[in-house]
Amino acid sequence: MSANSLPETATVWHSLEVDKALGLLNSNADSGLTTEEVEQRLQKYGPNELEEHGGRSAWEILLDQFKNIMLLMLIAVALISGFLDFYSWRSGQLKAGEIPFKDTIAILAIVVLNGILGYVQESRAEQALAALKKMASPSVRVIRSNKLVDVAAKDIVPGDVMLLEAGVQISADGRLIEESNLQIRESALTGEAEAVNKQATIHLPEETSLGDRINLVFQGTEVVQGRAKVLVTNTGMTTELGKIATMLQSVESEPTPLQQRMTQLGNVLVTGSLILVAIVVIGGIIQARGFSNIQDLLEVSLSMAVAVVPEGLPAVITVTLALGTQRMVRRNALIRKLPAVETLGSVTTICSDKTGTLTQNKMVVQSLYTNQKTFRVTGEGYAPVGDFQLDGQKVEVEDYPEISALLLACAVCNDSVLQKEQGEWAILGDPTEGALVTLAGKAGIEKDQWSYKLPRVSEFPFSSERKRMSVISEIEQVSTGEQSFTDVDPALAGLVNGEPYLMFTKGSPELILARCTSIQLGANSAPLQEEQRQQIQAQNDQMASNGLRVLGFAYKPLTEVPPEGSDETSEQGLVWLGLVGMLDAPRPEVRPAVQECRQAGIRPVMITGDHQLTARAIAVDLGIGQEGDRVLTGQELQRMSDQELEQQVDLVSIYARVSPEHKLRIVQALQRRGRFVAMTGDGVNDAPALKQADIGIAMGITGTDVSKEASDMVLLDDNFATIVSATKEGRVVYTNIRRFIKYILGSNIGEVLTIAAAPLLGLGGVPLTPLQILWMNLVTDGLPALALAVEPPEPDVMQRPPFSPRESIFARGLGSYMIRIGIIFAIITIILMQWAYTHAHAVTGPGLSADRWKTMVFTSLCIAQMGHAIAIRSNTRLTIEMNPLSNPYVLAAVVVTTALQLMLVYVPPLRDFFGTHWLPPTELAICIGFSALMFVWIELEKIFFRLTGKKAV
Ligand code: ATP
Repeated sequence: MSANSLPETATVWHSLEVDKALGLLNSNADSGLTTEEVEQRLQKYGPNELEEHGGRSAWEILLDQFKNIMLLMLIAVALISGFLDFYSWRSGQLKAGEIPFKDTIAILAIVVLNGILGYVQESRAEQALAALKKMASPSVRVIRSNKLVDVAAKDIVPGDVMLLEAGVQISADGRLIEESNLQIRESALTGEAEAVNKQATIHLPEETSLGDRINLVFQGTEVVQGRAKVLVTNTGMTTELGKIATMLQSVESEPTPLQQRMTQLGNVLVTGSLILVAIVVIGGIIQARGFSNIQDLLEVSLSMAVAVVPEGLPAVITVTLALGTQRMVRRNALIRKLPAVETLGSVTTICSDKTGTLTQNKMVVQSLYTNQKTFRVTGEGYAPVGDFQLDGQKVEVEDYPEISALLLACAVCNDSVLQKEQGEWAILGDPTEGALVTLAGKAGIEKDQWSYKLPRVSEFPFSSERKRMSVISEIEQVSTGEQSFTDVDPALAGLVNGEPYLMFTKGSPELILARCTSIQLGANSAPLQEEQRQQIQAQNDQMASNGLRVLGFAYKPLTEVPPEGSDETSEQGLVWLGLVGMLDAPRPEVRPAVQECRQAGIRPVMITGDHQLTARAIAVDLGIGQEGDRVLTGQELQRMSDQELEQQVDLVSIYARVSPEHKLRIVQALQRRGRFVAMTGDGVNDAPALKQADIGIAMGITGTDVSKEASDMVLLDDNFATIVSATKEGRVVYTNIRRFIKYILGSNIGEVLTIAAAPLLGLGGVPLTPLQILWMNLVTDGLPALALAVEPPEPDVMQRPPFSPRESIFARGLGSYMIRIGIIFAIITIILMQWAYTHAHAVTGPGLSADRWKTMVFTSLCIAQMGHAIAIRSNTRLTIEMNPLSNPYVLAAVVVTTALQLMLVYVPPLRDFFGTHWLPPTELAICIGFSALMFVWIELEKIFFRLTGKKAV
């Protein structure tokens, strides 16, 4: 059948038998589709993608930009200024050559530009986030051409056979072919929070409602538990989710902490400037004893209002955040929620999983313990090549029936697949299980063969809560003629006891041992004695304290297949087989990263499902804990009240044998202690803890889709060291934002005070026009501020404690710096202004205007900011102590900006437009001399802070 003769995918799949559905879609449950079939169907049905809807419309985003007090004030200024110009023009008071409405147009242009910029910033941020989310979008495991492959969700087509397991977010609609204990949370579709039990074997009446179609699975829903094989029936917009066309990942529009801080800043600036305007107007009126100079006062007020708004700030912040996100991705930290970029730097506690994040997640079995003997296993990686040794001597596994039985359990009670890929042995699935398949392979026990000999009929799947799993296999079915495998295979001989089913169980040794009543000794089982129990326990502790991850194994012959959900009762009365210890070496880069955390005042905490001794051994090795440190176990935690946990939570750095729900309690307790918590997670049940954490971190490689969906950040390499690098980037971003806010606002306050001073000093006219102020705020402040945004980290960035994410924008001296520097700025400029005014009025030769004192003020303010930019690169180091080329952009910005400013003074058309005057070289030199004082002052401040031991801002 060609792809074109396939049914339109509107068939009522839930009313069909599996075979009928497979037939209709011309697919095969075992071999899946071929590559050509997939190609054809992709052509016919298109990619499996949802068109995203919802969120704010473009207009709404644009309008939102103007709900900003500073922009509103600028609009008011533009209107008043326009009105004044209109008045002058009507009454013929315009000076020759003066362009009316110049300031109004310029201000409105800036308002529109700022609005557009904010709009572009928000839309780009949304697009960037969507793109980042796509990078982390789920891949799907499918059977194609008889092989298991992982493909991108968008490449799924109707007829594909996909495999589901706990934690997967389902990428298409489908009909269940087979399932085991499958529970699915369909809240995305039905709003129902309770997970639904699904069943493959039934078919339902056509009219069955969506929520009751328990033989189907739907796109966007989540596998909470169990496994399944599914025939994909609908993809893209034809899925149930596609039909209701909701947006899968709605865009969050809550203001980020930075946006909140900017609102706070805007309010303070606008209020401050309005108070100042009032003072100037009242002062001016009193001085002039009347309203005679009201127009002058109005112009001064307008200029002050324009001067106080940092028009260039939004652009600089946009660029900084964008660069920060990019730098983080380059370091393998993918930001999913924008506020994380700003707040990462505030993390005080990093709670990390052990397996895969602190360790390499490359497991190699090192030793076995069975029947009171410890065997060493040689070999590296996942290659099934190696020896079994007892007391240093190689042994043959066949001579030890209990080892054969243990290895059989390793191979059968296992969901991983060992494959040779490009000459290298690799595993598909959980590395712990991969190591067990490899181990069995070393003794010639191949998983594939045994899956055929002992077909799985049921299972109790692994979960982090249960910490164990069981697989039930059928024995009778495999009888061939007169003989069954049990007769021919010594590994099975002593196990089945004539029963038709055999259950293998593996998991946390304490849990498994507690469920055992017998022990396998040689080819037979015997009642388990208390002494043997203790020996096993001691051996488990011994292996764990060497940092090994230890699993216990057991089996049980069964007369019938236990019903679903009967794990508690069925996994009892087991026969103990032995222990397997595997090494999962710590990642070498984690040790220095832990060290860096400590210096940065960040406390690393290990939270693991593994044994307390294994946890402690690894934690000590990595520097997270010390020998003798308290390890809090899940059991102890369970018994503690929230208050008791809160008292302990700052003291404990190692949690072992915990379940996902404990993680949530740990985060909450830490948060109640005022900590700012980053928490890693990978499993489906980690989602609540990730959501609760201030920074929820999911694993890019091993993480489930559900955990990624709940996270703020995804670690593309699953590596703890990446969290630390991202935290450092977060600090750099926030420090740089503070740096250029200080830089820009110091200058704004200087401008405002200078403008206010002119009428109070009795100088005629406004020293700076709105156009000149906009030029300064946007260009001569904006360019160096952009360069400051890429300032490399200061050497001590990870040697100081984190700052609170809730601190005000003015905290830690930023407010006082702005005011102090603003006043110094103003003092220097006002002195120059007074001198320039008198001088210019005294010395007016041909071609010289007395009004050039205003140009001197304008030029001096601009050039002083150049010195400010150079000096503010570091809070503590003097400029001569820094490498000028470590941020060449600042130097370039200073050169370019100074050149532009000089052009405004010396290029006639620009001079006309900006209303400046030509300055003789001596006067320019005096301006530069005055400006340099700004630089000198800031450097002197640094020396003062250093000598007095006070903390610089
Ligand atoms: P971390 O939380 O640091 O990633 P972990 O990987 O050990 O630690 P879990 O995966 O929850 O945490 O495992 C908890 C325990 O369950 C393990 O220590 C082990 O005893 C047992 N276990 C792990 N994987 C399996 C498995 N595939 N089958 C049976 N038991 C397992």
